[in-house]
Amino acid sequence: TQYVYRFGGGVSESGERDKNLLGGKGANLDGMASIGLPVPPGFTITTEMCTRYYDDGEVFPESLRAEVANGIAHIESVTGKKFGDNADPLLVSVRSGARVSMPGMMDTVLNLGLNDETVKGLADVSGDARFAWDSYRRFIQMYADVVLELDHGSFEEALEIAKEDKGFFLDTELTAEDLKALVGAYKQLVQDQWGKPFPQDVHDQLWGAVGAVFGSWQSERAKVYRRLNAIPHDWGTAVNVQAMVFGNMGETSATGVAFTRDPATGERAYYGEFLINAQGEDVVAGIRTPQYLTTAARTRANAKPLSMEEAMPEVFGELAKVFDLLENHYTDMQDIEFTVERGKLWMLQTRSGKRTAKAALKIAVDMASEGLITQEEAIARVDPSALDQLLHPTLDPKAVRDVLAKGLPASPGAASGIAVFDSDTAEKRAEMGESVILIRTETSPEDIHGMHAARGILTARGGMTSHAAVVARGMGRPCVSGVGTLAIDAKAKLMRVAGREVREGDVVTIDGSTGEVMFGAVDTIQPELAGDFGTLMVWADKVRRLKVRANAETPLDCTVAREFGAEGVGLCRTEHMFFDAARITAVRQMILADSEAGRRVALERLLPEQRKDFTEIFEVMAGLPVTIRLLDPPLHEFLPHEEAEFDEVAKAADVSVDTLKRRAAELHEFNPMLGHRGCRLGVTYPEIYEMQARAIFEAALDVAETPIPEIMIPLVATRRELELMKDLVDRVAKEVFAERGKTIDYLVGTMIELPRAALMAGEIAEVGEFFSFGTNDLTQTTLGVSRDDAGRFLTTYVDKGIFARDPFVSLDVEGVGQLITLAAERGRATRPDIKLGICGEHGGDPASIAFCEETGLDYVSASPYRVPIARLAAAQAAL
Ligand code: ADP
Ligand code: MG
Ligand code: MG
Repeated sequence: TQYVYRFGGGVSESGERDKNLLGGKGANLDGMASIGLPVPPGFTITTEMCTRYYDDGEVFPESLRAEVANGIAHIESVTGKKFGDNADPLLVSVRSGARVSMPGMMDTVLNLGLNDETVKGLADVSGDARFAWDSYRRFIQMYADVVLELDHGSFEEALEIAKEDKGFFLDTELTAEDLKALVGAYKQLVQDQWGKPFPQDVHDQLWGAVGAVFGSWQSERAKVYRRLNAIPHDWGTAVNVQAMVFGNMGETSATGVAFTRDPATGERAYYGEFLINAQGEDVVAGIRTPQYLTTAARTRANAKPLSMEEAMPEVFGELAKVFDLLENHYTDMQDIEFTVERGKLWMLQTRSGKRTAKAALKIAVDMASEGLITQEEAIARVDPSALDQLLHPTLDPKAVRDVLAKGLPASPGAASGIAVFDSDTAEKRAEMGESVILIRTETSPEDIHGMHAARGILTARGGMTSHAAVVARGMGRPCVSGVGTLAIDAKAKLMRVAGREVREGDVVTIDGSTGEVMFGAVDTIQPELAGDFGTLMVWADKVRRLKVRANAETPLDCTVAREFGAEGVGLCRTEHMFFDAARITAVRQMILADSEAGRRVALERLLPEQRKDFTEIFEVMAGLPVTIRLLDPPLHEFLPHEEAEFDEVAKAADVSVDTLKRRAAELHEFNPMLGHRGCRLGVTYPEIYEMQARAIFEAALDVAETPIPEIMIPLVATRRELELMKDLVDRVAKEVFAERGKTIDYLVGTMIELPRAALMAGEIAEVGEFFSFGTNDLTQTTLGVSRDDAGRFLTTYVDKGIFARDPFVSLDVEGVGQLITLAAERGRATRPDIKLGICGEHGGDPASIAFCEETGLDYVSASPYRVPIARLAAAQAAL
């Protein structure tokens, strides 16, 4: 096996630019050499060598010595210098380079090949003794730090003392003599701490550094990083040995880092920094303030020191050409490192640059428009989840913030508004046109109307999957949850935090992307939905097969969903309509009634309200499909839970407090999630579903653009349940159609959210015309894990690798996925044209969407703000 590949000086030995073998850095050095860019000659020892080194018990095979000697000979012949030569010594850098860049690994050793003799030769040939001694002292310092792992603070200290002794401020003020003395001090430090003199043999230096790179692969820091980032331990790292070029050879030399486009905005403008007369990491080390690359950037920042464009116009021109060549070659924005030695440009590194979500979007769209990549590639380049950041208002980065506390970034976006501590007030004040931030210790289903009315939600308790977090994400409201430092007194309408008091009406700002809670208003920036975003969406829509619908239950949700490109409603829950302040009394009367007749009276009052809900939704959706789920939650959720409320509620519902309490006690359940809910309500109280079905049909007949309502029966486990409910719906349809003298098409189907329903899907499909996988409940019931209670152990489960990810966020494809696949197959076997969709939180999760594509579902349904994410993810899944 060949373990060493040479590059530079017209050579590009590996040719294939294989990152797995050469590591990222090595592959790209070879890649740059292959397109004729000025790369200092060098060679790469492969990652396979690293693996073998460990397999063999941390020794190098004899054959490697010859290969490395060959590599050194290559560098010598290109540079005309000799390694270890006292007259004109070759110096090299030794650089680690894994497949993916990995902090925790050995860094770079520069200027290797210097010793007490070669330093003199370097001083002579360069005609610059100061430069030679500066290089030597840098080498000893780096070698002692990264190879010998000595206390690097003591070297810094010696340098500081050397400067202080002379009253200097900058490293560059030290003279050759000062540096020579510093080298002496450094060598003494090595002797003291290492117990041996600093290695003078250049080959010992080289093998020491190579060994240190391989050794660092198994360092604790590197292992931890690999574990956290799921990088396999057997990948190994490569080692790059490369001729040194010097950015510290005076005023015509420099070193810098640059991006071929602006990594923050994505704009097509070179972006970067450089330092004259500097080496290696000086630019990022912050020793001196770096200068701007372009004059435009310098002017914008109002900075004095000349830009590279001004200071070195020729080299800058050359660099600009290199940027274009690199972008053409790698067809992506590049992050590069370069050095200028006495006016000559050298490229030291290139890789795909990290960028913000905004820049990723712009760069992908621009590059496709420039013809550098295809539209499909542009689609694949943007991380769908990152779009989330772009779809919500964000805080103006220039605005002043008075931060009170920090919690969990539970739902992205920023919002300002007056603090309000209960949902009814939130609704009232929002109706009066005020922006409201709803602040609760934690939220419950009774807060839905307040959450809807609020611009943002803040809670003291609860994690990322708390009620507040899940509902806020669904509604697209910014939310900060679990701010433990908030002391909320809802009765007194105030909270205390950070020694201050916030009263109802005081303005606060929350940032659901960072978890920050601020006092006062902070300016926000609205998202830009046209432009690049719109363009990418159009491209994505061309390639995707899956339809994308929204989970939406109000006209406003539906409007947002359509703006974001939803092609229908996949889940319209109806329970929130029952919580509405204007109706809750009728709902309670219905629940409190002793007889069917009593219930029907109350339901009569709800019918027009419910019909109005659907009319409004159908109007917004203008003929697009709307899946409406009939009432799902257990009835006791609609009754008051707190002693204090009983009087008022009883009075409003016109029953005695005793009756109310008795009924509440009767309805109490030990495990409501598996209790009297879903179609079980419809089976026992058919009049409820009758009213809902009637409202749906009447509304559908009322609107101008007739929809095809899809009536969805929740929590079905058996064919018979669905049959009973379908008969009910069909009967009501017949009645309404007869009354109106008009018929419309509609579908009756079910949610598949119980394992039994998935197993019996073949039979259930005899009745059901569509299935919607309710993966929230299907996950709960398959795993036997309650979503509302999972917070206590879920993190530990993920940490210990029991779950790869939170199964309520990303579908458990292995387990729950099997049930979905099986139900889809069995359903289709019975009814080939059965419509299949998914409507859990997973409908907006890219990994879960990829699974839906594989399974051949017809659509996914996500919360309105996640619709664009779903569109892009569906397109990527189809590529
Ligand atoms: P990292 O992976 O931490 O970026 P590098 O191997 O890129 O480490 O080295 C860091 C810096 O050292 C480079 O940006 C460059 O400035 C300098 N460097 C590395 N090799 C050479 C070389 N052959 N000549 C001059 N400078 C070099
Ligand atoms: Mg680098
Ligand atoms: Mg459900």
